[in-house]
Amino acid sequence: MSASDDKRHIGIVGGTFDPVHLGHLMIAEQFADCVGLDRVILVPASRSPFKVDSPNVSSPSHRLAMLQRAIGGNPRFSLDEWELRRGGTSYTIDTVEHFRRQFPDAELFLLIGADQARQFHEWRDRRRILTMTQLCIVRRHGTRLDVRVQQELTLGGRPPILVDCPLLELSSTEIRRRVAAGRSIRYLTPDAVADYIYEHSLYRDR
Ligand code: ATP
Repeated sequence: MSASDDKRHIGIVGGTFDPVHLGHLMIAEQFADCVGLDRVILVPASRSPFKVDSPNVSSPSHRLAMLQRAIGGNPRFSLDEWELRRGGTSYTIDTVEHFRRQFPDAELFLLIGADQARQFHEWRDRRRILTMTQLCIVRRHGTRLDVRVQQELTLGGRPPILVDCPLLELSSTEIRRRVAAGRSIRYLTPDAVADYIYEHSLYRDR
């Protein structure tokens, strides 16, 4: 990292990315645009605390390879393998502390979907996350983000930033289902990701 990275506005987008899809890329780009970020770092989770009952998550190497293919060509996007290398359950507080160490003077912005915002009261060390980052929330189809949730996420008078983004009714679950059913996923994820899924016969038996 260069010294100038320290002064920058850095956005963090965590997820399972199994697989990455256009919804992820769209929210990451609108996040960067809306908040004025220099970099958006996508952080694939080793195991989400909210998906511990999902035994079928694809291997880190597959999820990483698909993310690499998806973000290629966008100079603002990068990947961080820290959660994957660490293994175990991935808690956002640990990741935020990792980025704080890496970029001591940068402003950190954390993007979560409205579905996650409603669960945020269950997150480990959530107050600390809110003091170390500026929380940003993006709407998600099927989840209403009510005023009560927004108030709960306001700490020290600093409310979450709402990222304006078109609603896209798409999820990794939907992509996995379509592949398993032999249906098309074209235009739902970048072609390079779709090609990777077919080449490696992912999701066929889900
Ligand atoms: P799955 O269907 O496997 O649960 P997912 O599509 O929800 O996966 P994740 O990798 O768990 O994807 O999500 C990472 C982040 O992206 C989360 O904050 C989630 O809310 C957000 N996200 C994913 N898809 C969308 C979408 N279509 N619109 C807005 N936010 C999204």
